[in-house]
Amino acid sequence: MIPSVILSNGAKMPIVGLGTWRAGEGKLAEAVKVAISAGYRHIDGAYVYENEEEVGAGISAMIDQGVVKRDDLFIVSKLWCTFHLPSLVRGACEKTLSDLKLDYLDLYLMHFPMGAKPGDNVFPVDENDELISDGSNFLDTWEAMEKLVDDGLVKAIGISNFNKDQIEAVLNKPGLKHKPVTNQIECHPYLTQEKLINYCHSQGISVTAYSPLGSPDRPWASSDEPSLLEEPRIKAIANKYNKTSAQVLIRFHIQRNVIVVAKSATPHRIKENFQVFDFELSEADMKTLLSLNTNWRGFDMKWAFKHKDFPLNAEY
Ligand code: NDP
Repeated sequence: MIPSVILSNGAKMPIVGLGTWRAGEGKLAEAVKVAISAGYRHIDGAYVYENEEEVGAGISAMIDQGVVKRDDLFIVSKLWCTFHLPSLVRGACEKTLSDLKLDYLDLYLMHFPMGAKPGDNVFPVDENDELISDGSNFLDTWEAMEKLVDDGLVKAIGISNFNKDQIEAVLNKPGLKHKPVTNQIECHPYLTQEKLINYCHSQGISVTAYSPLGSPDRPWASSDEPSLLEEPRIKAIANKYNKTSAQVLIRFHIQRNVIVVAKSATPHRIKENFQVFDFELSEADMKTLLSLNTNWRGFDMKWAFKHKDFPLNAEY
């Protein structure tokens, strides 16, 4: 049994999932197979990762081989910004389902609160490299996503990269039919997100942590940025438990009842990142990890700084 978080729709979401962003062409189907064989049941994907066919190939292979059944899995995808206009939402979800070769998703997230100009370009920017808005209102997008639940394409819907005010706007939307079951946000010891997590939990919304290892391979990483995996205080904690820094960084979320998705396309690391249920960090070590907070972000979303729904101007 994999520890899970019970969502507000009653579904159980496995607390550790496999991230799939930049998993590398040709390696991802194998990574998904390795993960499922190692015990993972939750896979985190997105249209914009442009690799959902590979994820689908890995999932199908495991189902065809009888390793798992569809209902054993918890598959997540995300609606990309260029599909926020309500008329585009269903088609975007159907494309993801067809690429994944699935009849339904367990969870579909609005990837960002910001809608962007529809078209072939997934990052439509103006001459100043600023994201071009589609003028949409994320509450209308939410309503279109609610319909996906009603029509059986997805079991639940959620949000990602939303701040407190934006979450409140969804919760207070007149006629709200389905509450967001999770808010997926960047979270790790350099960005502990205490206020936003407390707020979400107080509203019955789970939190999913992305980039738990600090996303060291993201294309804009700089060589002088802080490194969670190399952080001496995290290494010292890991040594105490005979674990790796990555395992401590993943375990950190589990003990906060936060769902966590780490990405690896390397078989031994995929397995390593799942060996996190056989130890417990002491209260003192949890405090030390929380004390590393500097509000450092790997994802500052500079490309959307001027968008009307840019989420990072608020305190949290
Ligand atoms: P992570 O923090 O998960 O870091 C991934 C990197 O860490 C890769 O370079 C990986 O290398 C390396 N790594 C993985 N495991 C280990 C290990 N045990 N020891 C050493 N290095 C390791 O970054 P991501 O940004 O990918 O975040 C995880 C997932 O979160 C994404 O894949 C995606 O699914 C989701 N996400 C969602 C976002 C959103 O806006 N909602 C934004 C960003 C991410 P290698 O693969 O070579 O093993």
